[in-house]
Amino acid sequence: MNNKHLGTICVQEGWKPKQGEPRVLPIYQSTTFKYDNTEQMADLFDLKASGYFYTRLQNPTNDAVAAKICALEGGVAAMLTSSGQAASFYAVFNVCEAGDHFISSSTIYGGTFNLFAVTMKKLGIECTFVDPDASEEEINKAFRPNTKCLFGETIANPVLSVLDIEKFARIAHSHGVPLIVDNTFPTPINCRPFEFGCDIVTHATTKYMDGHATNVGGCIVDSGNFDWDAHSDKFPGLTQPDPSYHGLAYSKAFGKGAYITKATAQLMRDLGSIQAPQNAFLLNLGLETLHVRMPRHCENALKVAEYLEKHPKVAWVNYPGLKSSPYYQLAQKQFTNGQSCGVVTFGVKGGREKAITFMDSLKLACIVTHVADARTCVLHPASHTHRQLTDEQLLEAGVRPDLIRFSVGIEDAEDIIADLEQALAKVN
Ligand SMILES: *Cc1c(COP(=O)(O)O)cnc(C)c1O
Repeated sequence: MNNKHLGTICVQEGWKPKQGEPRVLPIYQSTTFKYDNTEQMADLFDLKASGYFYTRLQNPTNDAVAAKICALEGGVAAMLTSSGQAASFYAVFNVCEAGDHFISSSTIYGGTFNLFAVTMKKLGIECTFVDPDASEEEINKAFRPNTKCLFGETIANPVLSVLDIEKFARIAHSHGVPLIVDNTFPTPINCRPFEFGCDIVTHATTKYMDGHATNVGGCIVDSGNFDWDAHSDKFPGLTQPDPSYHGLAYSKAFGKGAYITKATAQLMRDLGSIQAPQNAFLLNLGLETLHVRMPRHCENALKVAEYLEKHPKVAWVNYPGLKSSPYYQLAQKQFTNGQSCGVVTFGVKGGREKAITFMDSLKLACIVTHVADARTCVLHPASHTHRQLTDEQLLEAGVRPDLIRFSVGIEDAEDIIADLEQALAKVN
């Protein structure tokens, strides 16, 4: 158990230099690691001893950064991946195989939706999507004997629905499966899903954790709380002998480390979506200021949301920190100081065309696909990420045609609001 506060963990956790070693996390830019004799190396390959031998499996720079994120989430083990997409895929694929089924909240990141609905289906794994705000009875109906996990996003990108993690954990556990939560938007600074019963957390570290839009990356953290052996029939991959490791059974050999060890030893070994150590170094720099940046993102976002809510040309505003949000109470309960994230969505009166006029008039906020950056940025999903869809299809996907996703940065709020003011003045 790590008793340090989150800010101290952000700055100090992970890399622990010994006497005379570099104070700053070094980039271990090496694919390989040296051993004195054949047997030492053989023990590593058999997972009998732990150590580095090839960067596709493990690298000291990556491990130091994973350890920091693990401490921030309050988990027992973590691994970095090359992207948030790889993290979501590995997190689910580590407990599912062809013929299995899993359940996901329908309000999740578009890339994850596609991964679950289309690509995982090609692998023989079926996903049922449920409305996260539906009753427990309703969500229970989606479970089948071959269901292996439940998935949701703490704050959905871009819909900004807030997941009731306690409710989802209760449902998952009553069916003997783990709850996996994508905690990208709040980050552990604002929400620690393990405290509400979630079992496994994933991140697109690309977003707030890096925070400077410099590198794509992901992370998976295990709470160590899910008892795989108690549901051995559902999770033979974790509890029964692995033929690719001479009959080793992960839950017996590694206890609470079973899930991440399997994801590293099998999935990373065979699929290879490792994060480049150079990127892990940059991610670590971002993490060192995460606790300073997140409150600023949230303060600015609340000011922007309150400003927009009063503006006569704005049709609607959605931000979990607004009292008018249907998620306000849940956000107060689940998030540190009620702070959610820096992303606000809203619509300009007059719909799609007015949204475009407004966006093209912005000067400080720039139009990019990215979100959760130190710099304020903006996207109109109907014209960009969801361009192929008709207005009707957009509504089915939970994305209103006039929805503007405004990712509030850490500049001075007065300047961000002045930019909104002048751009809204151009909309007639
Ligand atoms: C961006 C994002 C992802 C995917 O991450 P990449 O690093 O772009 O692969 C997953 N989940 C959420 C919530 C995201 O915002």
